[in-house]
Amino acid sequence: MDIFVRQGDSLWYYSQLFRINLQLILDSNRNIQPAQLAAGQRIRIPGFVAQIYTVRQGDSFWSIAQRRNLSNDALLLVNPTVNPNRLQVGQTIRVPLRITWRLVQGKQEYDFTRMMNDIRRLQNVYPFLQIAVIGNSVLGNAIQEVRIGTGPKRVHYNASFHANEWITTPVIMTFLNDYCLSLTNQNPIRGLVTLPLYQQTTLSIVPMVNPDGVSLVINGPPEVDPWRTRVVELNNGSTDFSGWKANIRGVDLNDQFPAEWELERERNPKVPGPRDYGGERPLSEPEAIAMANLTRSRDFARVLAFHTQGEVIYWGFENLEPPESEILVNEFSRVSGYEPVKTIESYAGYKDWFIQDWRRPGFTVELGTGINPLPLTQFDEIYQETLGIFLAGLYG
Ligand SMILES: [Zn+2]
Repeated sequence: MDIFVRQGDSLWYYSQLFRINLQLILDSNRNIQPAQLAAGQRIRIPGFVAQIYTVRQGDSFWSIAQRRNLSNDALLLVNPTVNPNRLQVGQTIRVPLRITWRLVQGKQEYDFTRMMNDIRRLQNVYPFLQIAVIGNSVLGNAIQEVRIGTGPKRVHYNASFHANEWITTPVIMTFLNDYCLSLTNQNPIRGLVTLPLYQQTTLSIVPMVNPDGVSLVINGPPEVDPWRTRVVELNNGSTDFSGWKANIRGVDLNDQFPAEWELERERNPKVPGPRDYGGERPLSEPEAIAMANLTRSRDFARVLAFHTQGEVIYWGFENLEPPESEILVNEFSRVSGYEPVKTIESYAGYKDWFIQDWRRPGFTVELGTGINPLPLTQFDEIYQETLGIFLAGLYG
């Protein structure tokens, strides 16, 4: 919600008026010098929208404020040109509306378009979110990053590296939404007050690493050639893409990282296809390159890659992980019921590369159980299991 500064007001006053933490207001207005507010200047108040209200018979400015549980001054502030003592029936005014419900509806087929729409809606209500494009997929879809928090501890989460594991995207988007709601309404999540997490950590989220692959699984092959013919060929002539994990070129993005890539290649297909082909060389695919560049530039303290399925958490790689990894995985396991697994015979994954090159904690979290793509009937259960991990990744 936008307001316009009145002479003599401060951001601190607006923070009290709308009961929104000052830090969140400051982070929603990064271009503003709080000590040099000018009258008329636009300020964004997170966690609110301005609703249009049509004045009815018997309304007064003050009764409207009271009914909406708003201070008179909050209502005055968003209606600077309205004379509060001369309301006319049929006149429209703006009424601040506190958002207390989710904007993200995760329990549905959640493709790239839906995600982009939700990112836009979230950023509109929560301008303290920082959105960036970290690269483009083979088909030119933007690989989005959302950052939340301003703390020194840099944490990274990603989802949908694998196409038919796309349920991880609405799960992580729902967490992002719940985190925003908790911050602006000061509602703890599972007893945890989240403002300290916001102040201590900067959380980087890439909610859909593989947008082309997700689209293939949810919406079917692209309408136009050459991609249509090509992917059906790579899929052994089938138009059922439910088993597809790779990007649109048939390269498995989680077999693309330079961490014993040759060993992974030996045990996997040598040609492009629905899954497990690691490419001609490490980091040949734009989606994997984008993730590598992001990771190299951000100095993450830890990374969690969300996949499906199996209810296990992989936390080791070639004994290169630090002792902290085991402490963290035990906490993730405690809050989710998922089983920690140190290593399996698998290489060249994103978390493998992170552990190898940074010697910091990296995890692959396998959500839910069943056959990918997991049915949406599992969404609520998976979200409840994962919520604890999302929080522990920040406080742990
Ligand atoms: Zn996976």
